[in-house]
Amino acid sequence: MLTCNFFGTTEIVIVQHTQCGMLSANAADLERRLRDKGIDTDNIALDPTLPEQTLASGAFSKWIGMMDDVDEACMRTVQAFKDHPLIPADTVVSGWIWEVETRRLRPPTFDAEKRARTDATAAQFGVAEKQPARWGA
Ligand SMILES: [Zn+2]
Repeated sequence: MLTCNFFGTTEIVIVQHTQCGMLSANAADLERRLRDKGIDTDNIALDPTLPEQTLASGAFSKWIGMMDDVDEACMRTVQAFKDHPLIPADTVVSGWIWEVETRRLRPPTFDAEKRARTDATAAQFGVAEKQPARWGA
């Protein structure tokens, strides 16, 4: 936000990757495990230097950002940046997937054939439940 508005940045490139650990578990399970350790995820300091920054109750599992599909997450992140009021409308925003398996950078896609040899979804990591809805409708 600062660089786009004040330091001359005109382009943002978002790169996500296959085989990501953020695909490897369900966020609701991780939140439960933290609660089992006695951590109150509804009342936690996200940034100890900014205690007024808080999450709405029940938002923790969304906030930690686990994902079901790296391509979808990349596309939605690009759109969120494009729609964000603090990113100037003329900033170029693009998203890319680094395929760890092939050492190839490609655009995000839902085309199964184009990502057939990659671990791009949580299901490929054995995660059965869908992540808590992060992106809205
Ligand atoms: Zn990762």
